Amino acid sequence: MSSSRRLFFALSLPDALQQQVIRWRAEAFPPEAGRPVAAANLHLTLAFLGDVSAQKERALQTLAGRIRQTGFSVCLDDLGHWPRPGVVWLGSKRAPRALLQLAELLRSQAARSGCYQSPLPFHPHITLLRAATQPVAVPPATPGWIFSADHFSLYQSAVEHGRTRYHQLAQWPLNNQDNP
Ligand code: ATP
Ligand code: MG
Repeated sequence: MSSSRRLFFALSLPDALQQQVIRWRAEAFPPEAGRPVAAANLHLTLAFLGDVSAQKERALQTLAGRIRQTGFSVCLDDLGHWPRPGVVWLGSKRAPRALLQLAELLRSQAARSGCYQSPLPFHPHITLLRAATQPVAVPPATPGWIFSADHFSLYQSAVEHGRTRYHQLAQWPLNNQDNP
């Protein structure tokens, strides 16, 4: 039996915001635009690790636990469509520096541990729709939600009964912005 798991580091969205986003999404996009991501699966990936052995997972958790990073607020004021992967996403026009630093740290720790990291620039986003390979009328603006990130998490991605589910394996606090 293989003990490797498909893992990624991400920011979760507060439950109330997940619900606000999916209510808005239902109004903003027609059903044919793409396949909506389940509310509980809305997240912002910081670093994708791929299939990781139990030993490497422990090492990556230890490294993640050493990160000292201040929390930050993310303003979700940007939207876009990437037709090739078929993704409609929600993002930030100006990603906070602390978010970029956190992702950079996790991605370099992952790379040093042998987890392949894409050479493409990191573009923080929350996937709203998948299989969106046809042209999509993207609304001109979002409601401009703001959420505070006070922790980051390690997730396992697993396909169960034909659906992708994420399981949080661990989480680490981001320091208080007033008391870093
Ligand atoms: P699916 O089962 O349809 O692929 P998913 O894409 O949500 O669903 P995963 O492929 O396990 O599930 O991906 C988990 C997270 O990691 C998602 O945010 C996904 O966009 C991101 N991700 C997956 N592959 C990569 C990759 N090669 N590089 C960067 N991020 C990735
Ligand atoms: Mg995927």
